[in-house]
Amino acid sequence: MIKKKSIEDIDPCGKSILIRVDFNVPLEGNKVRDDSRIKAALPTIERLINVGARLTLVSHLGRPKGTSVESLKMDPVANRLSELLEKQVLKIDHITGPEVGEKVQAMKDGDLLMLENVRFAPEEEKNDPGFARELARPFDCFVNDAFGTAHRAHASTVGVTAYIPAVAGLLMKREIEELSRCIDEPQRPLTAILGGAKVSDKINVIRRFLELADNLLVGGGMANTFLVAAGYELGSSFFEKEQVDSAVALIEQARESRCRLLLPDDLVAVEELKTGSPHRILKPGEITGDWKAVDIGPETASRYRTVIRDSAMVVWNGPMGVFEIPPFDRGTGDVASGIAESSAYSVVGGGDLVAAIEMLKLSDKISFISTGGGATLEFWEGKELPGIAALQDR
Ligand code: ADP
Ligand code: MG
Repeated sequence: MIKKKSIEDIDPCGKSILIRVDFNVPLEGNKVRDDSRIKAALPTIERLINVGARLTLVSHLGRPKGTSVESLKMDPVANRLSELLEKQVLKIDHITGPEVGEKVQAMKDGDLLMLENVRFAPEEEKNDPGFARELARPFDCFVNDAFGTAHRAHASTVGVTAYIPAVAGLLMKREIEELSRCIDEPQRPLTAILGGAKVSDKINVIRRFLELADNLLVGGGMANTFLVAAGYELGSSFFEKEQVDSAVALIEQARESRCRLLLPDDLVAVEELKTGSPHRILKPGEITGDWKAVDIGPETASRYRTVIRDSAMVVWNGPMGVFEIPPFDRGTGDVASGIAESSAYSVVGGGDLVAAIEMLKLSDKISFISTGGGATLEFWEGKELPGIAALQDR
């Protein structure tokens, strides 16, 4: 049971509701290329309109940096939502002001309205109180279903909650439940898998899982930094020089903790990184000159799969290699199919990793896929996310 109120705790019938969604979807021209984020919010939207709420949606899209950008207008998103719901979604070119007020006034129970890209307003990312008040003005209450932006204190995630009652949407609620389950009541053995590019992005999560987990499996560019810290030379591999000392400290922390820290003992190395380029399977100490590690090797993958097989719960952030360039997606694929074959409860987060798992068509094998990147990491770090903190307590 989460501490925050959700739409299940309010009576939305006949109310004018502002809902913050994360519809920051990839576009191709004036079409939505991947609508998974829109689909993720459908349960909340459908629930609200079915009980007669008058629903106004607000989201950001891309990085317009406080000015109107024609190619980042919300129209393609409104069209796609309308197709998915088989229902009209009225899109207006405003975020605040009398035009919004008039449209909201004219809505009937079950109607849908979509505001313009909220980041066209320079006040949004500054969490400007005057702008937040104007944004909240036409509405009776606020629903936040945008977990992916919950780690940002912006006007449309935090500012508005000063003016109207604020509750979680169903997606937000599920994210909080699933992500807290891994850290508050983990099933053991708990295995954390951490990959992706940088130790610096994820150091706090690494630390946290060294405290919490029974196993920590490291891959990706991040593993290179750990291997350098463990004393290996890695040729021209990517690694973070300024994080080597931190990695040494993390290896030390692992020694003193209950957590078993596993690093790759073989790697896929290339001289030149491009699709299908010749590669070798090398031990960490064998990579020299222009060669660089771009994925975990087959032995490592199989060792990691054995640990996964014996786990009750697996949490995973960040790919094991440069998955964008096949065949260097193999390590990520092997680990993903290891999870698919295991009976472990699995929770996965991180923009790139989620994209990789979708590419590999293994999404339905994962128990829960978080919609957050940075937000998921901060949640697992144990930070209080401002977008969640601002919601009403039960
Ligand atoms: P996520 O978004 O899942 O949290 P990150 O953003 O931390 O993941 O990292 C993803 C990036 O890491 C990918 O672009 C991938 O190519 C890169 N990467 C993975 N392994 C390596 C490696 N060995 N060397 C260089 N880059 C890597
Ligand atoms: Mg990323």
